[in-house]
Order: sequence, then C-alpha cells, then structure tokens
Amino acid sequence: MTYVLTVSIHPELAEISSRKATSLKLNDKLWGRILLINKYKMISAVSTFFLFIILSFTTLLSTASAQAKPARIAIVIDDIGYRETDKHALLLPGAITYSILPHTPYGKALAMEANASHREVLLHIPMEAENGKKLGPGALTSAMNKAEIYASLGESLAEVPFAIGINNHMGSHLTQLVKPMSWTMGFLKQHHLLFLDSKTSPYSKASIIAQKLGVPVKGRHIFLDNQLTESYINKQFQALIEYAQTQNVAIAIAHPHPETIQALQHLIPTLQQQNIELVPLSALYSIPTNNQTRIASGK
Ligand SMILES: [Zn+2]
Repeated sequence: MTYVLTVSIHPELAEISSRKATSLKLNDKLWGRILLINKYKMISAVSTFFLFIILSFTTLLSTASAQAKPARIAIVIDDIGYRETDKHALLLPGAITYSILPHTPYGKALAMEANASHREVLLHIPMEAENGKKLGPGALTSAMNKAEIYASLGESLAEVPFAIGINNHMGSHLTQLVKPMSWTMGFLKQHHLLFLDSKTSPYSKASIIAQKLGVPVKGRHIFLDNQLTESYINKQFQALIEYAQTQNVAIAIAHPHPETIQALQHLIPTLQQQNIELVPLSALYSIPTNNQTRIASGK
C-alpha cells in the first residue's frame, strides 16, 4: 500500500512575499505588525503540518494492525447422507464443518468419520418448506406439537450425539412460525446446542427466537453452489471473500456435489494469501463453557 502525503501550503503564507514588496512602502510600525501576524500564521501552519504527519502515522499503524488480524470464514457442507459420493466432501482441506441429514443411509458413518478427523459436525434438520417439498426422515412440520418436536430432535441427536448444533434443511415455512421455532430452540437450549439459520426464507424468525431463549445463533451469508458451474461457484467464493474482508466474518453453505468439491479443492487453499482464516463454525459463536466441553471432547 502506498501512502502519498500531500502538503498544501496555506494560501496566506504564499502571499507573504508579495505583501513584503508592497509593505516596503508602509511605515516601520505597520510592517513590524504584519511580520508578527505572518510569524503566527507560519507557526500555526507548521503545527498543522506536524499534526497531519502524526495523524497519518497513527492511521497507518492502525491499518497495519487491522490487516495483521485475519478475517474468518466458516464453510458448512450440508445435505450429507444420501449418496455414497458424499464422502468426497470429507477430503476437502481445512476446518470445514459438516452438516448431516438424520436417519439417512450414509449420514451416521460420515458424521463419525468427520468427527474422528476433528471436524465439527451439525445435524441438518429437515423443516417444512413453503412449496410442500418432501422432507425425509427427522423432519419437523407445523403439524407437530411440542412433544413431537422434542422427540424427533432427540432421535436425531441420539444418532449423532457429538453434533454441536443444527441448521435447517429447507424450512422456508417452519422458520417463520413462532411456536415450532420456540420449541426447537427450547430443545437446543436444553442440550447446549447452537443454531445456524440457513435462511431459506427472508422472513425467518429463527434468529430472533433463538436470541430470546439464549441459544447461540448465526445466519448463513452466502450459498456457494446454487448453480453447478465452475464460473458460478468461483463467483460466489469471491463474494464470500469480499464479504469476509468487509465484515471480518462470513458463513457459507455449500453441498457435496462433485462440481462443488472440485472447485473448493482449488479455492480453499487461496484463502491464506487473502489473509482469511477458515475456522470451524463454532469459532464464530460466543458459546457457554458447557458447549465448549462438548466440542473439545468430540464425543
Ligand atoms: Zn439442505
């Protein structure tokens, strides 16, 4: 970074020489007063100049220290569990967070593998969508009462007991509803779990309800692979970097598609050059001590 210091001479100082010429015609007393006034102007200009130098130096120092601290991003790969090829997502480099669909053919095994390689694991809980799409096992719907929601979440957590929290699969309808969201957050609170709002609806009430009940909560900022082309994924990844650089943190969600995995294999190693650190999702939350025990033990 180049810093250019521009010092503009005070216009009144520049006038000194011209005034000097005309002032020769004035009497000595007046000339003495003019010299005195110009002397004070000179002192004031010089102090302004030094103040400017000091301020520029301070700005330079604070910019340098801000640069030294890397921005942090978390990447969550969700929708894991239905396809055998989902295992390829585990080969991605760095602190990726994996979110597992409950009661799926490969979910539990891949969750255990991710946990064994010290990667964080979430449960990816299907929630009712506005378009009425099929949800799969472990889903929460608006037809369920509190006991049913608690029981369903309990069964999912029993399958992946080391999960540090949940994020919603679909859920554009359910996340707008106060009662089911309050019950969901109540369960999370009871089990010291965090919530990541996938934000499948702009009207999601999940964050506000989680905050009210004291559940650690964040929202997804960027989906990386809504289109499965290399150029689209690259573009979204660039947007993720820019978001992190301006906001200091960013959370991305992507899926275990072969195209996504291939692109991320190349893109993740570029983060370091951009002074961005890839961190486990929980690193972006302020989490009570008991939950850190869960993360640390990984059991
Ligand atoms: Zn999903």
